[in-house]
Amino acid sequence: MSESYGMAGKRVLITGGSGGIGGATARLLAERGSRLILVDRDEAALAAFADELRSGGAEVLAIVADVTVEDDVKRYVAEAVAGFGGIDGFFNNAGIEGKIQSALELDYSDWNKVIDVNLNGVYLGLKYVGRQMVDQGSGAIVCTGSIASERGLPNTVAYNAAKHGVLGLVRTFASELGGTGVRVNAVFPGMIDTRMLRNIASQLMPEMDGAAGAAAAGAAAAPLGRVGRPEEVAQLVSFLMSDQASFIHGAGVPVDGGALAVMDNKG
Ligand code: NDP
Repeated sequence: MSESYGMAGKRVLITGGSGGIGGATARLLAERGSRLILVDRDEAALAAFADELRSGGAEVLAIVADVTVEDDVKRYVAEAVAGFGGIDGFFNNAGIEGKIQSALELDYSDWNKVIDVNLNGVYLGLKYVGRQMVDQGSGAIVCTGSIASERGLPNTVAYNAAKHGVLGLVRTFASELGGTGVRVNAVFPGMIDTRMLRNIASQLMPEMDGAAGAAAAGAAAAPLGRVGRPEEVAQLVSFLMSDQASFIHGAGVPVDGGALAVMDNKG
């Protein structure tokens, strides 16, 4: 029996729950005995992943929803409450990278796509899961920011603006929810080896395949000299959701191999 780190029995909702970082977090929390509500938009991939976790003994609700659609967000909260009676932890994590292009060239429609998922979707999740948790009088929310919440990076203007916005959302919700029993924080992943980073790397370094490009980008960005693993983000998410983090509120915590410690804005 593995250690639960305070997560056994917790009802945890994860958006982007079958993606790289969301999926690794789901796996870790399943090992720790959490009951999972996984929200994602690819029905087949979500169903297969939920079945995999169930076959390991986890209790999993799988909900197909688009985080940018307000009615979908209300529905995923309602289905989670109907299924498990409440939500103890919320990993507000779904995101897209968008088109890799200079700020002067990017089409407004491409800007809007990224803002819609990475900022509007995060707001909607905070609003509706936040209301549920305030009604319960308890809960812990972790939003996925990025090292791009703290620095400007070239060719990803909408992504950077949205991730800065995630920090603004977290700080605002933290200031409003202080007396309610609900904590709100963000994680700031650095370069983490998922589909997203591989796709960005293969666009920026077409001479390399995505995996090699992600490894090279990670090694260049972080003093630890390597790309991060999604499991390493999951460890931090689990901690921030647990009662062990009872005095951490309104924070953005890097999990980046030291990248933010040394980054400048020259790109
Ligand atoms: P993935 O692409 O592996 O996971 C993202 C998940 O979010 C996918 O399952 C995706 O579904 C889902 N998603 C996207 N849009 C929506 C939507 N509108 N509604 C519901 N689900 C949606 O990437 P990561 O795991 O790397 O990304 C997770 C988070 O981590 C993102 O917020 C990202 O910005 C952040 N991050 C990642 C870093 C990295 O280096 N990988 C660094 C810093 C932050 P689908 O596959 O259908 O698109």
